[in-house]
Amino acid sequence: MTRYLGVKDLQRMVGEIGVQTMIADIAGFIREDFLRWQSYQKSARTANHSPEGVIELMPASDDSLFAFKYVNGHPRNPLRQLPTVMAFGVLAEVATGYPLLLSELTITTALRTAATSVLAARLFARADSRCMALIGNGAQSEFQAIAFMDALGIREIRAYDVDREATDKLIANLAPHIRTGRLQVMPMDSVRDAVAGADIVTTLTADKSRATILSADMIVPGMHLNAVGGDCPGKTELDPRILQQATVVVEFEPQTRIEGELQQMPADFRVLELWKVLQGLESGRSHAREITVFDSVGFALEDLSALRYLHQRASSMHIGRPLEIVPRLHDPKDLFGCAVGTAPSLVTAQ
Ligand code: NAD
Repeated sequence: MTRYLGVKDLQRMVGEIGVQTMIADIAGFIREDFLRWQSYQKSARTANHSPEGVIELMPASDDSLFAFKYVNGHPRNPLRQLPTVMAFGVLAEVATGYPLLLSELTITTALRTAATSVLAARLFARADSRCMALIGNGAQSEFQAIAFMDALGIREIRAYDVDREATDKLIANLAPHIRTGRLQVMPMDSVRDAVAGADIVTTLTADKSRATILSADMIVPGMHLNAVGGDCPGKTELDPRILQQATVVVEFEPQTRIEGELQQMPADFRVLELWKVLQGLESGRSHAREITVFDSVGFALEDLSALRYLHQRASSMHIGRPLEIVPRLHDPKDLFGCAVGTAPSLVTAQ
């Protein structure tokens, strides 16, 4: 039967495995799939826009597994007690189309986004990076902070959000790492103050507008920008002049041209795709003064990797429950019998 993983199941997994290990493990799965990039059927996601937000479907498959994610982006949702980004997804067997896993992906999206950010940063940020500015301290922020502390050696976070309560929440959630002295987190009064002196700048703001969170005069040689919040047409965070001076890396170019910071640039503006750098076909950072930008929008293959990971771990940890989301019949042609309850099912009572 299909395995169902809900929010409580994810909480149990996070409790038993730990956020840091999960991000590192998912990064490993994403890397593995990006190294097999050519084996996957890929497409830009489909997006239905409304004045308040966007609802998207993200499919990907190879010859054995298919996955899709349902995800939204509604920046004003927190005012209605809902997260800005909510998601769930399915992993299915290509040979039959049978759904193997139906899973929550809201928490998982934050884990996989942080995992992808560190995969890019390991190739493009300076190895001696220790200080990161974190602009936008909402739902994604702790995951990014922990991932960069763990994988990149970030020891100081300069945090800024227009909502000071979001920054206080970030600091409270990072308290265990602050107490052990592994991380120092400083609330800042403006984007400019946060960015001054940072080696890496992560932007994680949510606003359905062409915002200029970072202007060109804030950026100094050697910085790596992890631009995560601009992920939809008409929703950007960077002054385009920053991109003009930078080496820009993207996930899947056709999608990022529509959704990323790249939407502000001419069609012939040169970018690198992350999979090519991972496969050694292109190089990462070439010198200490290079300005690099990961123009992250989130790509379906990262969700397939995350679902693959969840499926494996949930099976070995016996987490989740069986879900009869499609009928399993002794006579698969007797759907009518199934509908009226006369056809015997292969599924025993739960
Ligand atoms: P969230 O709403 O929980 O947090 C966003 C924060 O940004 C809020 O605390 C808000 O106060 C702050 N903010 C808004 N405008 C700001 C500004 N001008 N300066 C400073 N802070 C500002 O959202 P979230 O779930 O943390 O997501 C953050 C962004 O990342 C969203 O835009 C989302 O669409 C995007 N996202 C991208 C990916 C990806 O793969 N690239 C994945 C998940 C989320």
